[in-house]
Amino acid sequence: MLMQSVLLRRFRYISIHYDIRMKKPNSGDYISNGALHTFEHLFATYARNSEYADSVIYVGPMGCRTGFYLLLRSNVKKSEALSLVRKAFEFIVNFGGEIPGSKRRECGNYKEHDLLGAKEIALDMLNVLSEKTEADMVYEE
Ligand SMILES: [Zn+2]
Repeated sequence: MLMQSVLLRRFRYISIHYDIRMKKPNSGDYISNGALHTFEHLFATYARNSEYADSVIYVGPMGCRTGFYLLLRSNVKKSEALSLVRKAFEFIVNFGGEIPGSKRRECGNYKEHDLLGAKEIALDMLNVLSEKTEADMVYEE
């Protein structure tokens, strides 16, 4: 059963794909479009300006609105990926001011943002992740 988690999806030659599951799948509770959108702006901004900037290949939302994908170069260790995710979520929880890239000319749907919603999800996930270690980052067989 998929629960809220950060799971390593695929280890390829150059990249590691993480599934960051933030809502229990098919539970009827999904991330709203506005919160998902704002979360994407903030998560991507943080990751691309972090110490792992050169290793971030992709950050983007799951279409089912239960989480995010994070693709990193394979030189980044699992523990470092988890640390990056934690720091990004702390950044979101504490974020104030104008959402990066949210001006009309920068964003494809600039009116659909929900900062408060994004912060709620980030806080929820920080609580989940506080108990997670590298050993929890694998899919059950
Ligand atoms: Zn946007």
